[in-house]
Amino acid sequence: MDDAMQRLGVREWLAAGHAIARHDLRRNTGRGQFCARFEKRLAQMTGARRVLTINSGTSALTCALAALGVGPGDEVLVPAYTWMSSAAAPLHVGAVPVFVDIDETLTMDPNDIERKITPHTRAILPVHMINRPCDMDRILGIARRHKLFVVEDACQAVGVRYHDKYCGAIGDAGAFSFNQQKNMTIGEGGAVLLNDEKAYARAYNYHDIGVAFRNMSLPDTGGVFVGMNLRSNELQGAMLNAQLNRLPGRIEKMRRRYEVVREALEKGGYPIAPHNDPSNGVALAVTFETEVEAVEFSKHKLALRLYDDSKHVYTNWDAILEKRTFHPKMNPWAWAKREIEYSADMCEKTLDILKRSCRVALGERYPVPVVKYFAQKFRTRKPREEYVEPVLASPRPTNKPARAA
Ligand SMILES: *Cc1c(COP(=O)(O)O)cnc(C)c1O
Repeated sequence: MDDAMQRLGVREWLAAGHAIARHDLRRNTGRGQFCARFEKRLAQMTGARRVLTINSGTSALTCALAALGVGPGDEVLVPAYTWMSSAAAPLHVGAVPVFVDIDETLTMDPNDIERKITPHTRAILPVHMINRPCDMDRILGIARRHKLFVVEDACQAVGVRYHDKYCGAIGDAGAFSFNQQKNMTIGEGGAVLLNDEKAYARAYNYHDIGVAFRNMSLPDTGGVFVGMNLRSNELQGAMLNAQLNRLPGRIEKMRRRYEVVREALEKGGYPIAPHNDPSNGVALAVTFETEVEAVEFSKHKLALRLYDDSKHVYTNWDAILEKRTFHPKMNPWAWAKREIEYSADMCEKTLDILKRSCRVALGERYPVPVVKYFAQKFRTRKPREEYVEPVLASPRPTNKPARAA
């Protein structure tokens, strides 16, 4: 869906111009102001103690894990339905991902989290997929009992609330993405949200290899360690401030359309997927009892069957399932404290739910009456007896690239 025109406009153009006019796009000169201002504003909005802008959501996840000291020998619990970055970030710090099933909320199943915890588990990485918050109350309870870190992947839920909190600012750390498809976009970008000063200092250190040479005071982290360069720049900071101004309006648009579409679905008798905080709902999905119904439903203009969105399904992450890293000796699976096994059927419950579920777009780009018009078409659910097997015989093609023999 190419709606960049709606999401980036004259405000970002002016903000970028403002940054360029300052003739120095570094954030670290002491004169930089746009990234710093954005960080303060985002912290204020979300309630996170500290925010660090960074070059991507993937970097944000990696940086958060590094900041908390997760590393070789550690296991990180990751849902089987997410973007691959959630599973790759633990590997970037030397830890290994262990996959957890989702439940009907389409987010991590707390019961399966409990089952997958071992003495080597160090962190839980819940993902607020497609703007749907995880069951954070239960996840935090489990984490507390087992003394685990919680690193929220809120890359797809920027600005989304869970009860009185913001996704990403609930656990020990959170990650936002600002790539083209996310709630806030500047093309590429991200942010780390942290609730601890020392973790913030370590995150800053990790994301800026030159930290020792900057004139800045960070809390003592036990000596500067070797970092990366994942820094953001003032052009991004300036545009992020403009995007942050748009965010509340964008979320409100989603919330209004959520009501309209939900009502139509309810009237049509569709099985709406449970949501961990419906009062803050901005994303809708339906989960049928059978796969054929989901396939049929996915023909609707606003619907996408989640199983067909194959890049978000673990069975298609070959590099991870086959444990391939850029160098055979830089392989976190070799450092794990036990044999970690992956297979295509390790999270069958997830596959089953994704096959029977469709997300329903809310059409934020369109005026409410247009959304209402499209949603009316949900009013005629076919009785289940009318679905016949041949529908399944010709499944929709997935977007998985063909593999070389
Ligand atoms: C987009 C996304 C990321 C990574 O963000 P990038 O900015 O593209 O690196 C991580 N996790 C999830 C769930 C995402 O959707």
